[in-house]
Amino acid sequence: MNATVVTATRRANRSLATILVTAAAALAVCVLLPPGVAAQQPVTISATDGYFDVSRIDADTWAISEPQYWQKNNSFIIKGQVRTILFDTGSGTRDIKHIADNVTRKPTTALPSHVHYDHIGSVASFDEVAMIDLPVNREHTADNRYTPSLAMSLSPAASSFMVTEWWRPGEKIDIGGRVLEAVWIPGHSPDSIAVIDRARGYAFIGDFLYAGELYTFLPGADLAAYLESTKRLLADYPEVKTLLCGHMDTTMPRQALVDLQEALTGVLEQRAPSQRVWWLGGLVRKYPGRSFSILAW
Ligand SMILES: [Zn+2]
Repeated sequence: MNATVVTATRRANRSLATILVTAAAALAVCVLLPPGVAAQQPVTISATDGYFDVSRIDADTWAISEPQYWQKNNSFIIKGQVRTILFDTGSGTRDIKHIADNVTRKPTTALPSHVHYDHIGSVASFDEVAMIDLPVNREHTADNRYTPSLAMSLSPAASSFMVTEWWRPGEKIDIGGRVLEAVWIPGHSPDSIAVIDRARGYAFIGDFLYAGELYTFLPGADLAAYLESTKRLLADYPEVKTLLCGHMDTTMPRQALVDLQEALTGVLEQRAPSQRVWWLGGLVRKYPGRSFSILAW
């Protein structure tokens, strides 16, 4: 096992002891990470009280995972030479901000993949927050304060947050030697986005696709839009080879998108085999697949 395990205290802030522990942890990570770790072979580091796992995807890309959370969330650090994007801010069970601050020293902008409660848990901790300029986001925003509705966040407890940047759909954002594109991919939710890094062949994809049960029946979900978004991702971004996923395994190969297109087509054409299952007290249809399943009405 080539992992380096480092434990840091939960509150990485003011005390000298904490600073020393944090510095030692950072040094240990720098020194002990195996050289030339290939992409798709993340090295796992335990941090804080062991709640988060931080996995190195490549030198500038890290996953912050919550393996103890029931949905096994993944958020992603996307580092540029000028600034860092944190794609999703976790469930909020612990504050993800000081983890991000220990992985990058660059100013960090949080960017939600969508506003379901488990992806915006710590968003209010960030001074800089970007959103995609979509009507569905603007209609919940007043004076640049976004207030999630129950239907959008799926939680009455989701807190509001300030939006400091609005990115146009498809806009190219240069974070310093690294260009990102934010793409609107409705389907799982009406506000879902992906962030594309063409040069590295990455699509940060949130809840759109992961190795688990994909919910297509939540408020605002749209099966037809899901399929159209999948086709568009495949057609417009042939460079994408790796999907960085919002839950379960941190990555999936491009082939999973092809499988998703086939699976959604089968569901929409009512020819895919399914079974009735209980989900939170209601009956839904489950369409099993090789690496993921689709849950639909
Ligand atoms: Zn979601």
